Amino acid sequence: MAAFGSVFMPKMALATFENNQWSESQIVASDSISLHPGAHVLHYSSTCFEGLKAFRHEDGSVHVFRMDQNVERFAQSSKLLSLPEVNKEQLTQMISDIVAEYAADVPTPPGSMYIRPTHIGTEAAVGKAAAPSDSSLMYVLLSPVGDYFAGGARALRLLLDETGQRCAPHMGMIKSGGNYASALAPTLEAKAQYQADQVLFCPNGYITETGAANFLLVDGNEIITKALDSSFLHGVTRSSILQIAKDLGMTVSEREVSVEELLERAKKPGVEAMLSGTAAVLTSVGTFIHNGEDIKVGDGEIGPMAQKLRQALNDIQWGKAPDTHGWLTKIA
Ligand SMILES: *Cc1c(COP(=O)(O)O)cnc(C)c1O
Repeated sequence: MAAFGSVFMPKMALATFENNQWSESQIVASDSISLHPGAHVLHYSSTCFEGLKAFRHEDGSVHVFRMDQNVERFAQSSKLLSLPEVNKEQLTQMISDIVAEYAADVPTPPGSMYIRPTHIGTEAAVGKAAAPSDSSLMYVLLSPVGDYFAGGARALRLLLDETGQRCAPHMGMIKSGGNYASALAPTLEAKAQYQADQVLFCPNGYITETGAANFLLVDGNEIITKALDSSFLHGVTRSSILQIAKDLGMTVSEREVSVEELLERAKKPGVEAMLSGTAAVLTSVGTFIHNGEDIKVGDGEIGPMAQKLRQALNDIQWGKAPDTHGWLTKIA
């Protein structure tokens, strides 16, 4: 099967910002865009994106999950990167229009339609290293995706990195390309050296997140995760899982977690660690690698709480449980 995110629908929604205003959005071919080689994004990384999903319900209807949250975060990323201000109503309409266009192609669960809004600075001006792009391009790509765990789910190995960091701390809450490039070398090194799946960046001995997912810990009836600050990405899956945990009567603790506390708790039976993000939803962490040593989390396998929380979230997304928080927008 094709790798996640490598198949695209042939058209996308697109709008341009020029002369201080947004164009009408259009539906255009998605196989190429035309860009001046001096475009601001190619030199100074004026770029951000989003990742959200549309789901097909049993009655055939199509629903986008928490679109308002992703639109809000996209507007915030654009603002923090000094890109032109996003028109949130326009972006919401662009997402709705392109998903409606391909409503018949939205896969059935556990598949979905992955939606990738993107915003880039297009002004041809290599002299603008310290100035924003006056023009930009915003588009919404669609990629139908199958079961993320088609190859079989397994608990992940996470290297605890107490010296490096994922990206510059003031960039952490911006969903921007450069941050992923920045996390790549340490992640590839951890793979080669420790067969790690991901790096959990823990600058100064406190956990933040991995290259593209948030980190959560479950200990008995308590779910623990880092409190929001500008240093890391505020995941929509993170906030959804915390809400579901609350609905299930769990105690939600958003606070700082040290590596020391993490390793101490990992030894306790029944403790679970997990990663959250739109693509994989919720994945169990079975092993921490710390100072060259493997430390199992509980029994080192996929945990029952990760499965339960993921199922509860999927049930809402798939229309099998009531959408009590109004997270779904019906498109078709
Ligand atoms: C996208 C992303 C997440 C997860 O966010 P969701 O909204 O849950 O998909 C977490 N961390 C990083 C760095 C991300 O880019």
